[in-house]
Amino acid sequence: MTKTEIRNEGMRIGGEIVFTDDVIEVKYPYTEEVIGTVPAGTAEHARKAFEIAANYKPKLSRYERSQILQRAGELIGERREYLAKWLTLELGICHQHAIYETKRAQDVYQFAAAQALNDDGEIFSCDLTHNGKERKIFTKREPVKAISAITPFNHPLNMVSHKIAPSIATNNCMVCKPTELTPLTAIALADILYDAGLPPEMFQIVTGLPQDIGKEMMVNEHIDIITFTGGVPVGKLIAETAGYKRQALELGGNDPLIVCNDLSDADLEKAATIAVAGATGNSGQRCTAIKRILVQESVADKFVPLVLEKAKKIKFGDPQDPETELGCVIHAQAAELFENRVFQAAKEGAEVLYHPERRGALLPPIVVDKVPHDSELVMEETFGPIIPIVRVPDNDEDVMAISNSTDFGLSSGVCTNDLNRAIAYINGLDVGTCNIWEQPGYRIETSPFGGIKDSGNAVKEGVTEAMKFFTNVKTYSLPWP
Ligand code: NAD
Repeated sequence: MTKTEIRNEGMRIGGEIVFTDDVIEVKYPYTEEVIGTVPAGTAEHARKAFEIAANYKPKLSRYERSQILQRAGELIGERREYLAKWLTLELGICHQHAIYETKRAQDVYQFAAAQALNDDGEIFSCDLTHNGKERKIFTKREPVKAISAITPFNHPLNMVSHKIAPSIATNNCMVCKPTELTPLTAIALADILYDAGLPPEMFQIVTGLPQDIGKEMMVNEHIDIITFTGGVPVGKLIAETAGYKRQALELGGNDPLIVCNDLSDADLEKAATIAVAGATGNSGQRCTAIKRILVQESVADKFVPLVLEKAKKIKFGDPQDPETELGCVIHAQAAELFENRVFQAAKEGAEVLYHPERRGALLPPIVVDKVPHDSELVMEETFGPIIPIVRVPDNDEDVMAISNSTDFGLSSGVCTNDLNRAIAYINGLDVGTCNIWEQPGYRIETSPFGGIKDSGNAVKEGVTEAMKFFTNVKTYSLPWP
């Protein structure tokens, strides 16, 4: 392993670096070596951070916010190799995927820098009705007292960026508790933002175990908004605990790629490329990773060998090797759980076509065909680079019913050249997003994004929507026409 140091990090509270006696170890999934520590912070630390956030009233002009955001994006570019190195070390994804994540994060800041300049205030004339008046009503947006951000392990840079960039763009103060599994990148990001000119009160990082610090992140009196990305159980716990506080809950997914029977051989090749890339990108640990490939019966025999061929070509192994195309999942227990779901599916009649050996957290791109659509492997969120193929009837209505049969409703991809069928899927799938001829995960960082059912409470993220969500609209009227 080529690592130069162990990072013993502190929290970032009110411009100070805060350590505690107890620490949480951060491990490199590939070797299980300790590569860093963060403080085992408590509710007291979170309380202090929220106090600071609530008492600070940001006065940055739109221009200043935009400049900070733009500079932050540039700094991410300048520090790309450093960030990618630590993304690989704490998350275990391969260097190529880590580089990709840094570029996505840069996009977030580019969009937020542009959006910060945009005033979406509205004007309503009041002389519109028979009892109208010679007045005008105006709208303006105001920041809230404090925002609590709780983030997951799987995109340590981009997920935090999707919270903090819109927060800065709207002059808000945010306290973020990154996951205890991959907290180091969030801290590196905080330093980048301070270097870009952000007042430290506007973004603070606290770390700790959920049982010690989690509740304070939901109930602190200063919190107006909780923005959470993570799994369904914690999301539902927040919904129960946080009561009246405004919440964005971005939860798990079980996204299908639907491959229709109108495709030519060349189209099936294209669909197989999308399928394999979508199932294995970021080690399959994207909320929008392809978790089920639903292929219609009459093209399945042609399609499956194409998937198999592409999966076999993936170079998986040492995450730090720049040639590696697939690294680890977050830890060996997760890898084992997902592999066991494959074994269980095989007992239920699935055929395992490719399963090179798993080594700890290094889970290969396992290809499984003929998976029953109600097998746990494809009913639950299997958060790894498994490529499960479910053969489904040629009738689109049946495919939609199967697709909609899980508890999740995040995103979807459909490969068809028939516009009528495409529209039918867009209308018929119970999801937040439907991409025709793309991975479910396709988006730009400012387009609305978020799920329904167990995948989220339909509050959208993406820079533009998050900026609206993070603000209160105030209306005021003036006695002039
Ligand atoms: P998780 O729910 O285990 O943890 C998420 C965060 O919640 C972490 O910071 C964790 O420390 C915190 N947490 C855990 N218990 C808590 C408690 N009792 N109180 C307060 N905080 C608590 O999720 P994870 O395993 O880190 O992330 C993977 C999940 O995130 C997957 O389900 C994935 O689909 C989902 N995800 C969703 C999106 C989306 O936009 N919908 C994006 C990325 C990831």
